[in-house]
Amino acid sequence: MSEQFSIGTKCVQAGYRPGNGEPRQIPIIQSTTFKYDTSEDMGKLFDLEASGYFYTRLQNPTNDYVAAKIAALEGGTAGMLTSSGQAANFFALFNICQCGDHIVSSSSIYGGTFNLIAVTMAKMGITVTFVSPDCSEDELEAAFQENTKAVFGETIANPALTVLDIEKFAQAAHRHGVPLIVDNTFPTPVNCRPIEWGADIVTHSTTKYMDGHGAGVGGAIVDSGKFDWMAHADKFPGLTTPDESYHGITYAEKFGLEGAFITKATAQLMRDFGSIQSPQNAFLLNLGLESLHVRMPRHVENGLACAEFLQKQPKVEFVNYPGLPGNAYYEIAQKYMPNGGCGVVSFELKGGRPAAEAFMKELRLAAIETHVADARTCCLNPATSTHRQMNDEQLAAAGIPAGMIRLSCGLEDKADLIADLTNALNAIG
Ligand SMILES: *Cc1c(COP(=O)(O)O)cnc(C)c1O
Repeated sequence: MSEQFSIGTKCVQAGYRPGNGEPRQIPIIQSTTFKYDTSEDMGKLFDLEASGYFYTRLQNPTNDYVAAKIAALEGGTAGMLTSSGQAANFFALFNICQCGDHIVSSSSIYGGTFNLIAVTMAKMGITVTFVSPDCSEDELEAAFQENTKAVFGETIANPALTVLDIEKFAQAAHRHGVPLIVDNTFPTPVNCRPIEWGADIVTHSTTKYMDGHGAGVGGAIVDSGKFDWMAHADKFPGLTTPDESYHGITYAEKFGLEGAFITKATAQLMRDFGSIQSPQNAFLLNLGLESLHVRMPRHVENGLACAEFLQKQPKVEFVNYPGLPGNAYYEIAQKYMPNGGCGVVSFELKGGRPAAEAFMKELRLAAIETHVADARTCCLNPATSTHRQMNDEQLAAAGIPAGMIRLSCGLEDKADLIADLTNALNAIG
């Protein structure tokens, strides 16, 4: 969809343009396979000589409409959907890294992604150097090796809520001839478009705000089309030398800057790992996307209102929200996300675990869930749930105090949310 349209218009209409007499809503192509008149027609698809569909594990029209919308929202040239955010980050990295390669990653990232890179990809022979998102230029520079193939970070990290200096990380990546991959799940392209700041590839857990209603797990990858693989051909042989499993085509030559990365990820990784999103879930994801630009400002408004309220409460030790003046990331958040970031706030209650338990038991609107970023407000106390194997000392060392609560502000009326918090604070002895 043409660049001239605003992000909100793209949320509603990009990706799918029905022809005369065709359905106005995206059709759900609930079919594993597609029929052809001649084997010659189908052969062209297998050779990547013609574009079209033959088996939904590789591509499905419903998914492609939605992926095209997400690519348009991020300002990229091509996109693909995956079955989850985990699959999106794995594919984005594994598409350019192989055994013997190395990744530079921000240490402040989602726990699942941290484990994927630090443990599971290590078993594949891919090593990593983690750097603080706040590291100096010199520290960042020192993390690179001869075999570094990618730099990775999250715009706003889940759950630490640190903010990535995208320009700093992009410039360092480009000095070393490798792309910057940014997981943009929390702000969504409505609040931040990392490609405009130099990121080369953007990933999403669409499970969060994009779906927005807690209905379907999913992921997405968008390529900016800007990274010149051929200029660093020796680093990326998978893109710049012939693929024998596709009759010797060279992705970067045949599909150009704008198409090589996503075509390779589809043709090789989807074919072999099969982490496709179901067309039904892609349809639900698109319903979420149609209102993303209307919902995100409300999540931000509620997040800021709850953060400001909590900051004034004597029973609260500290509040972490990058949109709050005085937060360590306030300035950088203003630079990259002038309209606000997301609706997730974390705060520490005085009184540790017992205070957190008493508080959460009393909440009526905010449900206790491991999920974040949907229409209904939810919360989590890591010490009694995701991190319950740790004692108080271990929690403190990990920067997760026992009394810490992660609050994901939904779309309810903010006065009702604040009343719920007030009531629960009163229950702490
Ligand atoms: C949730 C999340 C993921 C993982 O996504 P799933 O859809 O749960 O697989 C990755 N990155 C971030 C920032 C997330 O919040």
